[in-house]
Amino acid sequence: MSASNKDRIYLSPPHMGGTEKDFVQQAFDSNFIAPLGPQVNGFEQDFSKISGLAHCAALSSGTAALHLALRILGVGKGDVVIASSLTFIGSVTPVKFLGAEPCFIDSDYKSWNMDPDLLAQAVDYYISIGKKPKAVVPTDLYGQCSDYDRILEILKPHDIPLIVDAAESVGAMYKGEHAGKRALMAAYSFNGNKIITTSGGGLLGSDNKEYIDRARWLSQQAKEPLPYYEHNEIGYNYRMSNVVAAIGRGQLEVLADRVTRKREIFDYYKNALDNLTGISFMPEAEYGKCNRWLTVILVDDNKFGANPDQIRIALEKENIESRPVWKPMHMQPVFADCRSFGGKVSEDLFAKGLCLPCGTAMSKSDLDRTIECIKKCGK
Ligand SMILES: *Cc1c(COP(=O)(O)O)cnc(C)c1O
Repeated sequence: MSASNKDRIYLSPPHMGGTEKDFVQQAFDSNFIAPLGPQVNGFEQDFSKISGLAHCAALSSGTAALHLALRILGVGKGDVVIASSLTFIGSVTPVKFLGAEPCFIDSDYKSWNMDPDLLAQAVDYYISIGKKPKAVVPTDLYGQCSDYDRILEILKPHDIPLIVDAAESVGAMYKGEHAGKRALMAAYSFNGNKIITTSGGGLLGSDNKEYIDRARWLSQQAKEPLPYYEHNEIGYNYRMSNVVAAIGRGQLEVLADRVTRKREIFDYYKNALDNLTGISFMPEAEYGKCNRWLTVILVDDNKFGANPDQIRIALEKENIESRPVWKPMHMQPVFADCRSFGGKVSEDLFAKGLCLPCGTAMSKSDLDRTIECIKKCGK
């Protein structure tokens, strides 16, 4: 075995397309190193084109985008915001930043996303006690869109806003439209291991101009339009910088290629492992096209002969990174006091799930190395 065979295989590392440096060079040449400048405007316009969302505000993170979305809707102390249980905590912390209470909805097996039937139960419950939820924020898990139409059907009669956490679903589609397009607002992330990255960043998109204008204003310390610094409201320092936006413009050029490659990687794993007893793959819902940000398997340890953690440790010994499925929010000690609806499905997915390395620059031999190691764990 050559030394390079033992190089570390990361879960989903950054993969530059090549033109990022040119955009960054433009930022340097124009001396727009400080926040704002033409690259930020360009990135927002490019993202509008790709997503179909008329208005976009480039921000410092996906978490910041969700925080602003909830703030713009007036979420405050004691309000209820409904979220997915099976998600990353950045999806939910903004609810707490505003002093509101999250309520967690379990997944369904069809999509692993928020179960619309349980959402309907939760909405009925809160309406019945006279506490209409201020927003519903489903996560598009691992790059698969939530069933927006079914969710909207439940929310429309009560006029409850839909904010999509599309942090993981950049480039994914729902019934022919980009992830998040049907929401009132959608939050995206360009953090280091997402399908495309700006090194760190986020974006809030909407067809409503007022919301996005307000997001930009709040993201820059809510300064009144006066020559001196006057403030009537509390804002944040959440704007994306011009240098970071330059990286994003280069990454958007290769987004379609990244989705194609992520899907190829998923298919490669599936062809190699799906026939093993006890191994199955995250399904793709019929209404959309998943970006397959992460390839996720379910392991039935009785049938396969090893559990996900044993596989993770075996991979780690071979210098290969893998990761458990998100631990559901309703199981998190920090949210022990929060209400939840259902929970068994996400608990099962957490117990059986494993995210496999799927960087878009991975070679066939990296994939084969990972696959061989997994196969060896079985009986
Ligand atoms: C990554 C992620 C976030 C947070 O995005 P950041 O840019 O890291 O703040 C929020 N929700 C989900 C589901 C994520 O995966």
